[in-house]
Amino acid sequence: MAEERMHAIVVGAGPAGSAAALTLARAGLEVVLIERGAAPGAKNMTGGRLYTHALKRLLPDNWAEAPMERRVTRELVTFLTEESAISLDLKSTRMGDNSYTVLRSRLDAWLAEQAEAAGAMVASGVKVDALLVEDGRVVGVRCGEDEMYAHAVIVAEGANCLLPRQAGLRTREIDPHHIATGVKTTIELPRQVIEDRFNLNPGEGAAQLFVGSPSGGLPGGGFLYTNQESVSLGLVMTVAGMQKHQVRPADLMEAFRAHPALEPLLAGGKVAEYSAHLVPEGGVHMMPQLAGDGILIAGDAAGFVLNLGFVIRGMDFAIASGMHAAEAVIEAAAKGDYSAKTLTGYEQRLRDSFVLKELAFYQRVPGFIENTPRMFGTYPALIESILTRMFTVDGTTEPAHLASMALTEMNGKASLMQLAGDAWRGVRAL
Ligand SMILES: Cc1cc2nc3c(=O)[nH]c(=O)nc-3n(C[C@H](O)[C@H](O)[C@H](O)COP(=O)(O)OP(=O)(O)OC[C@H]3O[C@@H](n4cnc5c(N)ncnc54)[C@H](O)[C@@H]3O)c2cc1C
Repeated sequence: MAEERMHAIVVGAGPAGSAAALTLARAGLEVVLIERGAAPGAKNMTGGRLYTHALKRLLPDNWAEAPMERRVTRELVTFLTEESAISLDLKSTRMGDNSYTVLRSRLDAWLAEQAEAAGAMVASGVKVDALLVEDGRVVGVRCGEDEMYAHAVIVAEGANCLLPRQAGLRTREIDPHHIATGVKTTIELPRQVIEDRFNLNPGEGAAQLFVGSPSGGLPGGGFLYTNQESVSLGLVMTVAGMQKHQVRPADLMEAFRAHPALEPLLAGGKVAEYSAHLVPEGGVHMMPQLAGDGILIAGDAAGFVLNLGFVIRGMDFAIASGMHAAEAVIEAAAKGDYSAKTLTGYEQRLRDSFVLKELAFYQRVPGFIENTPRMFGTYPALIESILTRMFTVDGTTEPAHLASMALTEMNGKASLMQLAGDAWRGVRAL
C-alpha cells in the first residue's frame, strides 16, 4: 500500500548514492541507502583524485572534514616510452583546494556517515537483486527474500548497469569502446619518503598521468597519485583495445611498476592492495534514459565519467548527479507524483549543471582517443627521439635546425599529414 512506502530507496553507497541519500534525508524524506559491501567503500576503488567543487556544494559547512589524503599542488603529464619519460610538470600554489587525493574506503564511509547523520537509514551488506515493478512502474527492490517498497528508487550501483537494464532504461548493449578496465595497486611508503621523492611540502600531493608505454600502445593510460602514506598506481584501458590485442592488465601493471622512471619512486614500497574495476567512459554516447516511472539513474550507472587523458573525473559527476536525482525526488514528493513526467526534471537539472554540459562539450573525446592509436605509441616515441637528439652532444653529429631534425626523426614514423590530422581532431575534441 502506498502509505507504507518510504519516499526513496537508494541503491549503492558510492559518492552518487550517499550524496542522493544525504540530500533526501536533509529535506526530511524517508530514505534507505542500500550497500552490498560490508561497509560503504569496502568494495570501491578509484584512481584517487577528487575535484572538490561538488563536495563543497553538497556539504558547504564541513566538506573540509572529509578524510582526504593530500591537496594536489603538483600536476604531471608524462609521455612514456620503454626507456624514457618526458613530462610536463606544473607545481603551483595557485591550485588552491581544487583537488585532493583520496582513498575510497575512508571517503565513502565518511560520506555515508553524513547521510546517516542527516536521517538516512544505511543498510550495509545487503545486495539489491532486482527491482520490483508493478504495471510498468518501479515500486521498490528485492534483496534475497526481502522486498522493500518506495515511491522512488535511485540507482547508483556504479558501472554494473544491471538495474537500469532491468527497468528498460538501458536497452542497447554497451559498446566495448565505451567501457574501460581500471586496475590499481596501492603501495605503502613512509610519509617523508613520499614528500622527498615527489618534491612536496607536508600535506601536499602530486597527481601524475601517463601516456604511452604503460598501456602497451593501446588506447588508455596510467596514473599515479600520492596519498599520505601510500601511492596509488594504476592503468585504465578500453575493453575493446584489450580484447583486440589480447593483453593482460596484470602484465602491463608489472611492466609499468618496473619502468626506469617509476622504479626509483616506488622503491622499498609494500603493495597493500590490488583491485580492478570498470570505468564507463563513453559519456553521452552511452547514457541510458535517466528517469522512468519511480526510478532515476545516477553516477557511473548513468555513464557520467569524463576521461580527457590528462584529467579523469567521475566522483564529482557522481556527487552532483546524486544530488540532482534527489532534488527531482523532493519535487516529486511535494507534488505527490513520482511518474516519469515529473522525474525527468532530473535530466533538465543535469543539463543546467556541469554534468551534462561538460559531457556534451567533450563528446568527441572518446572517439578521438579510440581512433588515434598514434597518441599511445608513435608520438611518445617521436618526442623521445627528437628530445634525445636535442640533448645529445657528441661532437660528431652534423648540426641541424630543430625543424629539419624533427622531420628526420618523423621519417617512417608519422607523416606531416597524419600529424596535422591528429592535431586538428585533438584540438576539436579537447
Ligand atoms: C581505475 C579507476 C580510476 C579512477 N580515477 C578517478 C579519479 O582519479 N577521479 C575521479 O573523480 N574518478 C575516478 N574514477 C571514476 C570514479 O571512481 C567513479 O566515477 C565513481 O566511483 C562513481 O561513483 P558512483 O557512486 O556512481 O559508483 P561507485 O563508486 O561504483 O559506487 C557504487 C556502489 O554501489 C554498490 N552496489 C553495486 N551494486 C549493488 C547492488 N546490487 N546492491 C547494493 N549495492 C550495490 C557498490 O558496492 C558501490 O559501493 C576512476 C575509476 C577507476 C576504476
